[in-house]
Amino acid sequence: MSRNEMRVERALLGGRSVRPAMGAVGILIVAAMGIVSAQAASAQQDLSKVEIETIELGSGLAMLRGVGGNIGVSVGPEGVFLIDDQFAPLTDKIRAAVSKLSSARIRFLLNTHWHGDHTGGNENLGRGGVLIMAHDRVRARLSTDQVMAAGSRKIPAAPPIAWPVLTFGDGITLHLNGHTIEVRHVGPAHTDGDSIVRFVEADVLHLGDTFFSGIYPFFDTSSGGHIDGMIAAADRGLALAGPGTRIIPGHGPLSTAEDLKKTREMLGSVSDRVRKMIGEGLDKEAVIAARPTREFDATFGGGFMTPDRFTGIVYDSLSGSGHLNL
Ligand SMILES: [Zn+2]
Repeated sequence: MSRNEMRVERALLGGRSVRPAMGAVGILIVAAMGIVSAQAASAQQDLSKVEIETIELGSGLAMLRGVGGNIGVSVGPEGVFLIDDQFAPLTDKIRAAVSKLSSARIRFLLNTHWHGDHTGGNENLGRGGVLIMAHDRVRARLSTDQVMAAGSRKIPAAPPIAWPVLTFGDGITLHLNGHTIEVRHVGPAHTDGDSIVRFVEADVLHLGDTFFSGIYPFFDTSSGGHIDGMIAAADRGLALAGPGTRIIPGHGPLSTAEDLKKTREMLGSVSDRVRKMIGEGLDKEAVIAARPTREFDATFGGGFMTPDRFTGIVYDSLSGSGHLNL
């Protein structure tokens, strides 16, 4: 976890290390959950303090961490390929981090899904001539107003320059800088437009927000997200991962198949328990009170999704109510 993320998370948890000027904690919660618009994020002056951390993975690949979704990058003579772009105010810093790896221009951008902490830089990069690609549902959601169950927020459509110009259904494969880069859609998981990425020869995966490493995940029930899909996506990731695979999660540190396996087991156990409780007639309050995540809280409970909030969305997902109470 980067220092910046820890700072945001401490703010969410009521810590004191964030200046009171940050104010709207509600917006911050939404921002950290990856469902904030780029416009709202740019109002957060604290982004000016963010430093982009670069973790080089060899073969011209790297993971960039700042605030928002982890970025994947491939640099080489054929140009730069980016996976996700965090928030608009960070674009210059992201460009600077990339330029330390290569003088080649940013040529392609993939959005793993539509959330603002993964697509906030689209407008800036689109204006710079970068070709933006994503699953069909990402363009559909970025190009229309969205209503988030979380906080009953309305997120306005992004400007057209920020919309993916190349969209796909099942997936697309890039052949760039000596890599075979397989981008594959996974069924509704974190949203209805999630892609996962495999750098075949380098044995590196970027799983977008189908994988939150070491913390309870958020999934967006009002964008088609579902706990069953999160489990299926984890299984897809595990099928692609071996002992030496480096995995870039949507949020959290660079990870391994073992980390993903632990997450998969947690998701399965919590889901089974909540499903059983719903079958026994427990309502949402009672399910949360029963603490079905208890044994996992020490491992996964330190993020912005508290055990109660996570249990709440699992309940919503399985009961079909699709409403997230913050
Ligand atoms: Zn997200």
